[in-house]
Amino acid sequence: MQAPAHLGNSAASRDIAYHLHPYTNAKAHESVGPLVISGGKGVTVTDDTGKSYIEGVAGLWCTSLGFDEPRLVDAAIAQMRKLPFYHAFAHKSHEPAIDLAEKLVALAPVPMSKAFFACSGSEANDTAIKLVWYYNNALGRPEKKKIIARTKAYHGVTVAAASLTGLPNCHRDFDLPIARVLHTDCPHYYRFGQDGETEEQFATRLADNLEALILREGPETVAAFFAEPVMGAGGVIPPPATYFEKVQAVLAKYDVLLVADEVICGYGRTGNMWGSQTYGMRPDILTSAKALTSAYLPLSAVLVSDAIYKACVAESEKIGVFGHGFTYGGHPVSCAVALETLKIYEERDIVARVRDLSPRMQGTLRRYLDHPLVGEVRGVGLIAGVELVADKATKQPFDPKLNVAGKLVAFAHQHGAILRPIGDTVGFSPPLVINEGELDELLARFGKALDDTA
Ligand code: PLP
Repeated sequence: MQAPAHLGNSAASRDIAYHLHPYTNAKAHESVGPLVISGGKGVTVTDDTGKSYIEGVAGLWCTSLGFDEPRLVDAAIAQMRKLPFYHAFAHKSHEPAIDLAEKLVALAPVPMSKAFFACSGSEANDTAIKLVWYYNNALGRPEKKKIIARTKAYHGVTVAAASLTGLPNCHRDFDLPIARVLHTDCPHYYRFGQDGETEEQFATRLADNLEALILREGPETVAAFFAEPVMGAGGVIPPPATYFEKVQAVLAKYDVLLVADEVICGYGRTGNMWGSQTYGMRPDILTSAKALTSAYLPLSAVLVSDAIYKACVAESEKIGVFGHGFTYGGHPVSCAVALETLKIYEERDIVARVRDLSPRMQGTLRRYLDHPLVGEVRGVGLIAGVELVADKATKQPFDPKLNVAGKLVAFAHQHGAILRPIGDTVGFSPPLVINEGELDELLARFGKALDDTA
């Protein structure tokens, strides 16, 4: 592909020529080109022209400690020097993985038995699906394999994880979802609550619908329910009041496992160490990634309950080996960085920091509810979404072709703030180390972009 002539032989031009981008309109990219980010300091990143931006989404909801934490760099270098690679296949191990597994089991929101390591959120969720299947084979119920996720869920892009994801672009023309993956309602009260229905009534209706789906499919065929505590990439959707309590009652009734996808919510984002704690979830399996290393290196962790672990032991004993694992899963350098990240979270009491800052961010954003474009502001801790609407009274969405949130985010770029458009919603998830002044500045730049869009 030939880049537009005015770009010359710039990085942008070579990007257009050679780089196939994830989650990008490939055709539009040929003319729009990339924003090339060259450096980062604190909560700010700088592009290749020298313009700086407050990173309002922590990259992809992940760089919780900002972009220049020297202790993470030092931890990586020290581990690189000591042991740059080893694995955990076939009875091998290394100290960083052992220390991290011990630490994560201790940190877990409910008693967990073991930690398994992979490299990405998608791999963690694929692992969770395979563990659920393995578990039910071990228990001698080979028909109990169906997995229920939710419309608008985001669980990743590998074949099985993308099947769980409930977004059309992740399925359409990829021939997904795979069989045995089903979707139930998105718990977005503002969009899907009925006239006169309270949040609690909405939650009851969704739990009833989940139960009806399980009964329709046959409870003996339904193995697990996957849920993000707060849906992230589907539009920042916190659950309605009483939702998880009611959903978990249904799951318990039909012996269906709960998998909490804490890839965004884990490690403080919602104002507790885990989103599961914020919403009273008691998962059998918990997946996490992103802020585990503040995204400085790829790493994900899957925590499993004792029952799941015991089934793995029984099944692998029967067939000879637990036949699952990734070359780079639990990479020692990533584990060393994760251990240092967790140490910093503890030393700086990152959870208390999120709780302190949360009212500032959530409160300021809610002031925009008076704005003619803003339909809903939602969020918890340091994650939020502002949904734009064509008509506030009727909640009528904009024509998707107008790409209103995309336009707002482009204005925000001009004002020096990076935010994320998700449909008609603008997503916020700043680094957890953002200070009051930087947060105020981020929100002020958003405000200017909102006015530009109106
Ligand atoms: N689960 C959730 C909740 C996510 O937000 C993401 C990524 O954004 C994933 C899973 C997939 O993670 P990865 O992109 O590391 O595969």
